[in-house]
Amino acid sequence: MAMQIHTPPSASADDRPRCWRCGNRDLTLVYERPHPQFGSLGMTQRWLRCTDAACAKLTID
Ligand SMILES: [Zn+2]
Repeated sequence: MAMQIHTPPSASADDRPRCWRCGNRDLTLVYERPHPQFGSLGMTQRWLRCTDAACAKLTID
């Protein structure tokens, strides 16, 4: 029996933004607004801060 499984590669876990500096996925949402270009499509722009105290860089998603 040949079963083909069409599962997107961990889509739910992989679409989370990462810290651009250290790759940390554990980011705190600082600010969110409609995307300046694609807000009409329901897209948002988010400012996220890395929770790693040694990094604490701001990532814009
Ligand atoms: Zn970081």
